[in-house]
Amino acid sequence: LVVLEGVNKYFGNLHVLQDIDLTVTRGEVVVVIGPSGSGKSTLCRAINRLEPIDSGTITIDGQVMPEEGAALAKLRADVGMVFQQFNLFAHKTILENVTLGPTKVKGVKSDKAKRQCMELLERVGVANQSDKYPAQLSGGQQQRVAIARALAMQPKVMLFDEPTSALDPEMINEVLDVMTGLAREGMTMIVVTHEMGFARRAAHRVVFMDFGQIVEESTPEEFFTNPRSSRAQDFLSKLL
Ligand code: ATP
Ligand code: MG
Repeated sequence: LVVLEGVNKYFGNLHVLQDIDLTVTRGEVVVVIGPSGSGKSTLCRAINRLEPIDSGTITIDGQVMPEEGAALAKLRADVGMVFQQFNLFAHKTILENVTLGPTKVKGVKSDKAKRQCMELLERVGVANQSDKYPAQLSGGQQQRVAIARALAMQPKVMLFDEPTSALDPEMINEVLDVMTGLAREGMTMIVVTHEMGFARRAAHRVVFMDFGQIVEESTPEEFFTNPRSSRAQDFLSKLL
């Protein structure tokens, strides 16, 4: 569903993505881990072209991601993204935050959008907060709204970049539970996270990045019990 071939990206002299090849099949959950600065966020941002790449191709459901223009906007709608910071619109209600995309970008009628979005808020467990403003919600609730907002666009793949890193510990699980549910329902997901419990529980594959390269790819069992590369071994030993 998502195919990266020979993707390279530089920030000045810094080669942040080095010949990245990655294929994510439909329904697959791929967890990306690696040290700070290894290029995980840049990889996510490159996948929906928030960050231009210098060479290589990114294909989403058989279509090569274009550089810009209307075709890019259309393809980008297929890629839902959830960041560390929730980025909700502060002056819009929870429900308005979620209906905005479907009504403005997809032209869904207001009534229908409201109905569908209330169902999504139900699913992530914050339907009873729909008339409030983001600041009135906890971080965990806001992040679940951000997930509902991304899902409202009916994306083919969801990207998560450290979605629980900004949360207080007691709120992490409520967000991971929503993500685990999505994974079980067959959503294609690329998840950057330090939550190894989630990786063990939900990932089909773990991709370990270091210095802009994919160093190792394996199942969670293999990766956590028997990492092949010394860089992965080193990384895991520091986590324990
Ligand atoms: P973290 O775990 O800290 O989030 P990361 O793996 O997500 O790290 P990236 O944010 O992708 O890492 O950054 C990779 C490298 O690119 C880092 O060395 C970073 O300093 C650099 N970098 C990121 N964004 C920019 C930018 N806009 N301009 C210049 N350098 C950048
Ligand atoms: Mg990052």
